Amino acid sequence: MTVRQLKASIEQRVSKTDAALLLKLTLGTDSTGLILKADEEVHQNLVILSLKYAEMVASGTPIQHLLGEWEFYGINLTVNKNVLIPRADTETLVDEALKVIKKGDRVADICTGSGCIAAAIAGNADCSVTAVELSDKAIAVAKKNLEPFENVEIIKADVLEDPDEKLIGMFDVIVSNPPYIRSEDIKKLDKNVQNEPIMALDGGSDGLTFYRAIFNKWKALLKEGGKMLVEIGYDQAEDVAQMLENAGFCEVKCIRDTCQNDRVIIGTLKT
Ligand code: GLN
Repeated sequence: MTVRQLKASIEQRVSKTDAALLLKLTLGTDSTGLILKADEEVHQNLVILSLKYAEMVASGTPIQHLLGEWEFYGINLTVNKNVLIPRADTETLVDEALKVIKKGDRVADICTGSGCIAAAIAGNADCSVTAVELSDKAIAVAKKNLEPFENVEIIKADVLEDPDEKLIGMFDVIVSNPPYIRSEDIKKLDKNVQNEPIMALDGGSDGLTFYRAIFNKWKALLKEGGKMLVEIGYDQAEDVAQMLENAGFCEVKCIRDTCQNDRVIIGTLKT
């Protein structure tokens, strides 16, 4: 089978974008190379492997799990089935955080998962970052991703419990992309999202369990006047903004992502 034929056959099963990523993985050739080599024969083993991967992607395996890496905020990160794949939507949270972080600030990233937000902040601001995560398997991924940054530490903790005394009043900014999907909506998600860790998605029966814990228990990490920024689902702005105000924050506002969906709620702890 030639490169052209293999590409055509894969594009019948998955999107053109996924086909290009998949062929880059199996043949080591980017899109331009695929055109230049269109008439070359592909070794039978590579044909079999490419078609197997295409079948996996078509039946719901996220392509990122095959690639083992994914780019977020211009940084190539390790990903696997133990962490939520970094979403482009979450770059809005990083953009907003970078606007409020000042030189020397201490930032806490709660529910860090792959460490994508912590890495993007540590790589773009002169601050230190404490990344908090409960899952040991996610911590192993975050460790890899955060290793290049000197100003980052990872702490294992359950966000639904009270934070360690040592952390109280130490932070200028809290950022978080917690699990926020309503439990009963998980089964309605795309099948590739359903192959991601449920622990990173399930926000309890009303989707708001983690905001409740972060705004009531973990706000204690903030200094007076500290900032809280959280990612939200497209239909959660009103509820989450209200919860943040009730928890003693002012100047609460909602920021939209590039698709014009409500995406980030930000507030300042009253002094
Ligand atoms: N934005 C993710 C999704 O739609 C959910 C992320 C989360 O729960 N924090 O799949």
